[in-house]
Amino acid sequence: MKKLLWILGTVVSCVLYAFLVGALLIVGNIILSMVTHSEIQSMNQDLFNVVMLSGWVVLTILSIWMWKRWNAKCHACKRWNALKLLKTEILKQEKISVLVELKQRNLNREVTGTQDQYIPGKRKTYQDTYQCKYCGNLEIRTHTEDSASV
Ligand SMILES: [Zn+2]
Repeated sequence: MKKLLWILGTVVSCVLYAFLVGALLIVGNIILSMVTHSEIQSMNQDLFNVVMLSGWVVLTILSIWMWKRWNAKCHACKRWNALKLLKTEILKQEKISVLVELKQRNLNREVTGTQDQYIPGKRKTYQDTYQCKYCGNLEIRTHTEDSASV
């Protein structure tokens, strides 16, 4: 849920950036034409695309980086990027059914369709112990991993 909000925030900032770049380029063109006393030139589409794309890439990388730092936030001293993984233990293992998509092929090995099928698998619950590198606070989190046993 938090991740979804974070992604939404990233998309919103990308859109805002697009508007900002668009406005800046228009203003820049107007100023340029005033300085050089020439006609207002139409927007350079290639330049626009390059600036826009590279900006989005930077924003996305920045967002992922911030997400990682924020995810490793210590809840005792509130510092970001503070938690270091100390150990991982398996809490429990459960037998589960994993839904897999099987490709159906004809005699020529061409895919003709897919079929959903449940196969036995394992769900492992891990307990991760993190320690804050600033205040030494221990934080315990759990995560699960599903795997199909074939
Ligand atoms: Zn701390």
